[in-house]
Amino acid sequence: MAGPGKIVCVGRNYAAHAEEMGAERPDEPILFLKPSTALLDGGGVVTLPRWSDEVHHEVELVVRIGDDAKDVPVADVHRFVDGWGVGVDLTARDIQARAKERRQPWAVAKGFDGSAPVSRLLPVTSLDGLSEVELTLEVGGEIRQRGSTSAMLWTVRELVAFASSRFTLERGDLLFTGTPQGVGPVVSGDRILATAGEARLEVAVVR
Ligand code: MG
Repeated sequence: MAGPGKIVCVGRNYAAHAEEMGAERPDEPILFLKPSTALLDGGGVVTLPRWSDEVHHEVELVVRIGDDAKDVPVADVHRFVDGWGVGVDLTARDIQARAKERRQPWAVAKGFDGSAPVSRLLPVTSLDGLSEVELTLEVGGEIRQRGSTSAMLWTVRELVAFASSRFTLERGDLLFTGTPQGVGPVVSGDRILATAGEARLEVAVVR
């Protein structure tokens, strides 16, 4: 299958992460995009960007759009999601913090090459099965993030419905659904292991 046309991401979809970032709980989903060149399909090696000194890991449930979707009601979302897995929303936190300060967009902080590693995807049998998936992220065997999709402020159904009301979602597009608390830096030489249920992703970080 061809790669995604776009990667749609959700910010602050877990209250505890919004809190650790010193941010308010949003009143509707916060969407941003990564370019298709951010995808590292199946994991592998990520080269940290030269222009950032602080890249953070954010483990997230990822779903794939199975059919073109525009203004899809929540009750119909199951017909438009065909795969799920785990991804890491790698974020140049220093660049993002500066952008927030200057009221500039996050595109550069969030969109660098390899900033969207995603595991091999598993077929979706029922969206209900995605409402209580355990997420973990280890660096060098040490657990850094642990959470459950049950703590999402908006469910996968709600996120896909909302996103499809703002952009047409196309077959193959990916949706990153937000990270639980515990985000932190990765450095050259780190090996990341991210899991969501049985989905598993390994990423090696180099400079
Ligand atoms: Mg994120």
